[in-house]
Amino acid sequence: MKIARELIASDKLKPLFDDPLKLPFGRQFTDHMFTMEYSPDGHWGQARIKPYGPLVLDPSANVFHYSQEIFEGQKAYLSPKGDILMFRPEENARRLNRSLRRMCMPEIPEAVVLEAECELLKVEKRWVPAKKGASLYIRPTVIGTEAALGIKPSSSYLFYIILSPVGPYFKEGFNPVSLWVSDTYSRAGSGGTGEAKTGGNYAGSLLATREATQKGYSQVLWLDAGEHRYVEEVGAMNIFFVIDGKLVTPALGGTILHGITRKSVLELAAELGIASEERRITIEEVVDGIDSGKVTEVFGAGTAAVISPVGKIAFRGVDRVVNGNQTGPWAQKFFAALTGIQYGELADRRGWVYTVQ
Ligand SMILES: *Cc1c(COP(=O)(O)O)cnc(C)c1O
Repeated sequence: MKIARELIASDKLKPLFDDPLKLPFGRQFTDHMFTMEYSPDGHWGQARIKPYGPLVLDPSANVFHYSQEIFEGQKAYLSPKGDILMFRPEENARRLNRSLRRMCMPEIPEAVVLEAECELLKVEKRWVPAKKGASLYIRPTVIGTEAALGIKPSSSYLFYIILSPVGPYFKEGFNPVSLWVSDTYSRAGSGGTGEAKTGGNYAGSLLATREATQKGYSQVLWLDAGEHRYVEEVGAMNIFFVIDGKLVTPALGGTILHGITRKSVLELAAELGIASEERRITIEEVVDGIDSGKVTEVFGAGTAAVISPVGKIAFRGVDRVVNGNQTGPWAQKFFAALTGIQYGELADRRGWVYTVQ
């Protein structure tokens, strides 16, 4: 792909962060971004790498009214040898296209997405933190840009990629999070858009999350929309339980996001010595299991935090403590295995690590 480049002179670049381990999530952005526009003639046009900056959009643009928007979330890491690494980026490119199809938006060839990411990362190499725990977060986004208030798919789109250096989610090792089970709100319904990484899913989750944080919990544990009985996800992460010594996670059924961390945890489980199962899990099984001691660990899994241990679950006014509010051994093992592979420290037997070149 031919990419037009408008690069900033080296003496005009932004100052770099001081301590990458102290970077907050998604507040600072690099010098450049990637853009590519889709025109009403039905083609993706000129790819560009240009200075990071505001977009100019018509106030009637589709994205502001009818939310044709999808995004991805992935990371680049610096290996001990100084290579830029990505973790299973082909999976992200495939999921980006799955989200595009669901939101009635034009697809982008996976190879184009990958090349765009690699070329932007090479330009922004100085922003990839050299400390384990820190990384360069990659946010590919596609929005409908047509200026029209009629409810229909946009005829024009913008695909852009921005990069943000981020520190570790956990500052002092693991901090178990507390969950509030919502049995009134739901994140996604059958036939809806829960499987797509689309902005509206997150807008719809904010009120429940605010109510949870006002009660003193950090995240919402989402149940199914039909019966408010089956566990689905935690915040914007997939969820895992250790029940009777077995790793269990809700089966994907249309409302649960196909997490790449989730998939990787399942694929690593046997090697790390734990049997795994994808099935329906009721909230009663979880709370009764905590009471009886069958449920020994609960953790979330997603790109931002990698593994997020859960120390407390509130359901119908009753708080239950999981594993003494401590990070359990399985959360620790999966965290060490995944981050070891991501940073190029452990052998990559499955070909999950992609070297940018
Ligand atoms: C992105 C996301 C996840 C995690 O997916 P990863 O590919 O592991 O980062 C889980 N649930 C929701 C709702 C998400 O948006």
